[in-house]
Amino acid sequence: MVKTPIYFDHAATTPVCEESAKAMLNYLTGTFGNPNSQHEFGRQAMKAVDEARDGIAKIINCKPSELYFTSGGTESDNWALRGVAHAFKNKGKHIIISPIEHAAMLATAKALEKEGFKVSFMKVDGEGFVDLEHLKSIVDKDTIFVGCMLANNEVGTIEPIKEIAQIAHSVGAVCFTDAVQAAGVLKIDVKDLGVDLMSMSSHKIYGPKGVGALYIRNGLRIESIITGGHQERTKRGGTTNVAGIVGFYEAFRIADRDLEKNAIYVSALRDRFIERALNEIPYIKLNGPKDGSKRLPANADFSFDYIEGESILFSLDLAGIAVSSGSACSSGSLEPSHVLLSLGLPEALAHGSIRFSFGKHNTLEEIDYAVDELKSAVSRLREMSPLFKLEEGEIKNV
Ligand code: PLP
Repeated sequence: MVKTPIYFDHAATTPVCEESAKAMLNYLTGTFGNPNSQHEFGRQAMKAVDEARDGIAKIINCKPSELYFTSGGTESDNWALRGVAHAFKNKGKHIIISPIEHAAMLATAKALEKEGFKVSFMKVDGEGFVDLEHLKSIVDKDTIFVGCMLANNEVGTIEPIKEIAQIAHSVGAVCFTDAVQAAGVLKIDVKDLGVDLMSMSSHKIYGPKGVGALYIRNGLRIESIITGGHQERTKRGGTTNVAGIVGFYEAFRIADRDLEKNAIYVSALRDRFIERALNEIPYIKLNGPKDGSKRLPANADFSFDYIEGESILFSLDLAGIAVSSGSACSSGSLEPSHVLLSLGLPEALAHGSIRFSFGKHNTLEEIDYAVDELKSAVSRLREMSPLFKLEEGEIKNV
C-alpha cells in the first residue's frame, strides 16, 4: 500500500533537507548576529556568510567576489536584466530573451519595453530548444543583453547556453542564464558556459525559501536594483539573511555531492513514469525533449486531449498526489501555458498540461500508483467529455 500524499511537484519547491535545517538553526538562535556589526556576534555571522560564499563559488567555479546573495530566483532575474539594461542603455537598447523564460524575466522585459527598450524573442523548436541560427540572425550591434534559462521549469528542456553565450559575445552583448531549475541538479561551471550572469535559488534544491544568488562576472557593469546599506559589497542593500544563506550553502553542498546519484535515481523514476504513461494512456503527448539526456532528470510534462489540466490536477489531488499544471507561478491563472504555446502546441493542448517533477525521496511504488491513478482519472474525465465521445464515435450527430 502506498502512503499518500505523494509529492511530485519538486520543480515548484522542495522540502528543506535535514542537513540544511540543522545548519540554519544555529544561525537563527545561537549565532544570530548581524554580519555588519563590529563585534563578536557580527564577526561570527560574517564568517558563516563568507564560508557559504566560498563554498558555492567553488561549486559553480567562480570567485567568491563574483557571487551576490539575493532573496531568490525572482530577484536575481530582475537584477540581471534590469541592472544590465540600465547600465548599458547608452550603448544599445536591444534585449533578446527566449519566449519560454520564467515570469520574472518576461515581466521585467515588458517593464523595460515601457522604458524604451526593444525586446526580441529567440525562436524555440517543438521540444523547446533555442534555434541558434535564428538567434544569430537577430543579434545586432544594438543588442546589450541575451538571456535564456539553462533548463526550463515546465518542460525540462536543457538549453545550449555555451553556444548562446558565444553568439551574444560576438556582438558584444552580455549573456545571462537563469539556472534556478538547473543549479544543484546539473553540473555547472560558469566559466566553461561563458555566461556573464547566472541566477540561482535555494528552495528548488532542498534549501530554504527566500534566498538565492546572482553570479556576476568580475568587471561587468551592472546597476543595483535594491539600494540601501553596504551589504553585498554595496551592490545589494538589506540586512544579510545569514540563516538562509547558510541553509542554501548546505543544501547546495549536499546536492552537489549527490548530484550524479540523484540524477540516476530520479531519471529512472521519470523514465518509468513516461514509458508507462505513453503506453497506457491514449491521446497523451509528452512535452519537451524525447531524449532523456536533454531534459531535466526530474521532469515529465504531458498534455491530454479533450480534458483540462486543472481537472486532472484536482482528481490527482483527491487521490493524494500533488502535481502542477503548467508552471507553479502561472497555475491558478486560466491562461494557457506560454511555454507550450511557444513550442507550437494548439491552445487546447496548452491548457491541458500536467507537470510531474520527481524528487530524491520518491519511490517506484509511488510512480506506479500515480500512473494507475492518472489513467483512471483521465478515462473518467473523458467519459464526461462530449468532444472525446464524438472522436470515439459514440456520438454521431453533433
Ligand atoms: N526562474 C525559474 C526557471 C523558476 O523555475 C523559478 C521558480 O519557479 C524562478 C525563476 C523564481 O525563483 P524564486 O522562487 O526563487 O523566486
